[in-house]
Amino acid sequence: MPGMPEERRMATPVFRFAPSPNGYLHLGHALSALMNFDMARAAGGRLLLRIEDIDETRCRPEYEQAIYDDLAWLGIVWEEPVRRQSAHLDDYRAALARLDAQELLYPSFESRAEIAALAAERGRLGAWPRDPDGAPLYPGTAKAISRAERRRRIDAGEPYALRLDMAAAIARVGELAWMEMGRGPGAADHGPLPATPVAWGDVILARKETPTSYHLSVVVDDALQGVTMVVRGQDLFHATGVHRLLQTLLGLPAPTYHHHRLLLDTDGKKLSKSTRSTGLRELRAQGVAPAEIRKMVGLS
Ligand code: GLU
Repeated sequence: MPGMPEERRMATPVFRFAPSPNGYLHLGHALSALMNFDMARAAGGRLLLRIEDIDETRCRPEYEQAIYDDLAWLGIVWEEPVRRQSAHLDDYRAALARLDAQELLYPSFESRAEIAALAAERGRLGAWPRDPDGAPLYPGTAKAISRAERRRRIDAGEPYALRLDMAAAIARVGELAWMEMGRGPGAADHGPLPATPVAWGDVILARKETPTSYHLSVVVDDALQGVTMVVRGQDLFHATGVHRLLQTLLGLPAPTYHHHRLLLDTDGKKLSKSTRSTGLRELRAQGVAPAEIRKMVGLS
């Protein structure tokens, strides 16, 4: 905002809504987007929109256009330009290079199926640990590959992902916390919360097909966009531990977080992009008004 004194600009809270264009938006997205919009307004802050489109196999231009249409229909106003992650791969490469210089990354060559088989094999005598999303933890097999062998396989063109050496990273930073803004002062989830990234094991920071990952790009973008307040669903609560770790390793500022309730379908499961009955386009086609959407998500 040109013309605004520096101190005032620095104090302006910056919110963002960051959907992935891999399906049409549903009521759960409406809740997140409207909360960000309302909270930004109430705080005299800014609202940014970010398109998280690093997954080329699942993202489609028509879904991205639908995001703009559906948000505008809801009455949400965001700042231009919109940041599209696919246009900023160099920013993520630069962050990876900084972590690599700290010797915290290593290549892993296995496929997802191979990792599941390895975990099953090792877990024979007891349950193999799983990450907070339920996927088996990576058993760390590729860490044992010698430098020379890594070089040979990479030079031979074998695809690889880059993983964070979680134990080494945690040893580097010590204990971490994040600031969670609850429903109000005194609420149980208000205040600093301990971050436990170790639950995720050696997370992938760059995928075989793209030089980044969800965790890395979110952290880099939140910092580059000056985001001070992250309002997102409770399903990303545990991811925040990894985000705080990466922010600390990369020397980036920590936003405040608010993880809001999730809307559930009639079976008590999280809403999904394939459930037509809760899709914003379908509801709009049925003649539902934006004000009714607010009521449906419990905001008025
Ligand atoms: N792109 C993520 C999603 O659509 C959200 C990322 C975030 O808010 O940190 O689930």
